Amino acid sequence: MSKILIVEDEPNMRLGLKDNLEFEGYEVNLAEDGETGLKHILEGNYSLVLLDVMLPKISGYDICKIVRKSGNDIPIILLTAKGEEIDKVLGLELGADDYVTKPFSLRELLARIKAVLRRAEERSEVKNKDFIKIGRVEVNFSSYNAFENGNAVQMSHKEFEILSFLWSRKNSTVSRDDLLTNVWGYDENPTTRTVDNFILKLRQKVEKDFNHPQIILTVHGIGYKLID
Ligand code: CA
Repeated sequence: MSKILIVEDEPNMRLGLKDNLEFEGYEVNLAEDGETGLKHILEGNYSLVLLDVMLPKISGYDICKIVRKSGNDIPIILLTAKGEEIDKVLGLELGADDYVTKPFSLRELLARIKAVLRRAEERSEVKNKDFIKIGRVEVNFSSYNAFENGNAVQMSHKEFEILSFLWSRKNSTVSRDDLLTNVWGYDENPTTRTVDNFILKLRQKVEKDFNHPQIILTVHGIGYKLID
């Protein structure tokens, strides 16, 4: 169930929204000023925030700015008042996902909440599908990219293929012969020593301490096991 935070200083608006959203099946928490709201956003685990713009202590815009600067991509819908038209653009520039203008109908708000939640879900699916975290690096097996803390890591095509194969069999033992057959194919004639050399190179990239591997383990006499 999606958990929504409402940051709104007008009691009627705050409580009315809470009732309606709970009726729709959302779990709802409330904050009545900017400071409390910001604290909730940064510490809580919310699916979405309904954020009033004009708030005591910290404005909705400033909250947006601070939240995005901290790297938090929680979906935010701004609640703006009539006459704040120009500020909507500013709100979106500061990282809000959408806005509704008071007075708004419940139906409109619900539609926007659903749309924003759906987009956020798609975003996180794409993110998860594209990059896989293996030890120190994040790798994308379809585009052959690897990063460590946002910096590109150089990996050869063969290293990607070996890592990808180990990943596809993660947490189970893969023999050297399996690797030779699946990564090199029958046409090439590498030795098992070649496999071991590639594993060493991979360990230097993924392991925290490649002398004491925690990710790509040696299974003595057989091969390797990638731990996830
Ligand atoms: Ca207000």
